[in-house]
Amino acid sequence: YTILAIESSCDDTSAAVMRDGLLLSNVTASQSIHEAYGGVVPELASRAHEQNIVPVVDAALKEADIAKEELSAIAVTLGPGLMGSLLVGVSFAKGMASALGIPLIEVNHLQGHIMAHFIKVPDEDKALPPFPFLCLMVSGGNSQIVRVEAYNKMEILGQTIDDAAGEAIDKCSKVMGFGYPGGPIIDRLARQGNPNAFSFSKPNIKGLDYSFSGLKTSFLYFLRDRLAEDPDFIAHHKEDLCASLEKTIVDILMKKLVMASKETGIRHVALSGGVSANTALRRAFEEMGEKGKWKIYIPKFSYTTDNAAMIAMVGHYKLLDRDFCPLDKPVFTRTTI
Ligand code: ATP
Ligand code: FE
Repeated sequence: YTILAIESSCDDTSAAVMRDGLLLSNVTASQSIHEAYGGVVPELASRAHEQNIVPVVDAALKEADIAKEELSAIAVTLGPGLMGSLLVGVSFAKGMASALGIPLIEVNHLQGHIMAHFIKVPDEDKALPPFPFLCLMVSGGNSQIVRVEAYNKMEILGQTIDDAAGEAIDKCSKVMGFGYPGGPIIDRLARQGNPNAFSFSKPNIKGLDYSFSGLKTSFLYFLRDRLAEDPDFIAHHKEDLCASLEKTIVDILMKKLVMASKETGIRHVALSGGVSANTALRRAFEEMGEKGKWKIYIPKFSYTTDNAAMIAMVGHYKLLDRDFCPLDKPVFTRTTI
């Protein structure tokens, strides 16, 4: 079986080709246009997807050395994401599936992020997480602890009641006057800073849920007070600020994840989503692995942020189950799993 997968839920246009569960190509066009606005502008994102989709799909097929007539099915992200962005990828996928007379497979973007752990390239030998496992899904739009029973059977055990972890990082980056997205910038600066230099308030939320909006406010007030004393406070302390902010976020994330592992008795723990690129979070995971508390699964950098390879992975399993999608099924924007 050969699958073409398309992902366009936010600001990355991506296409991938997978044959019998092995990834042959994964091509992504990122949109730099949003940097000037400090966040993704939905209308601009849709327009950029329209420009990118044909060349990106072409490049993915070419790199895999596959002619479109050889495709068995097309997998596409149906949601959650931005309505206009999703529509570009989904309309394209539906048109192409109908023209080629092959089935369409719908993929949930969040299941895709989680199934990124199963991506294999030819000749690669790696340990896959066994079901059930826990997954910390931390991205720009979501922060949740998921119990994964099967590729298509997942349960959210806890999730953020307000901002996502990545969103909090991006907002704090913005108040410090850094670029967008803030995650990679904060990560880089934090490596030279002292994580215990400053402390910020941590939320006190019951159960396995998260909250990040209080941290953002506490960070903002802290900066405001310090800037009143020293107008160059941010420039003088940017490394320590980033390291301390990062440590606070990692502590919040890990505390609930440890609770979830104790409550469920599941010790196979995976990390997914854009924030899983973070050095301190990866380090905290590795420590749990080294101490023998968990068997950990951390995805390759290229599969942490949005990509079509992860969509192809879910598509592969759905194709085996012959779980296809009617061509008139609409996109969805709300978070479900
Ligand atoms: P969702 O998947 O919930 O729809 P999304 O697709 O927009 O959201 P991703 O692309 O998975 O989100 O992740 C983007 C987020 O990851 C941004 O908030 C970005 O700042 C953050 N991020 C990326 N790299 C790092 C890093 N090294 N450290 C911390 N955060 C990072
Ligand atoms: Fe995503």
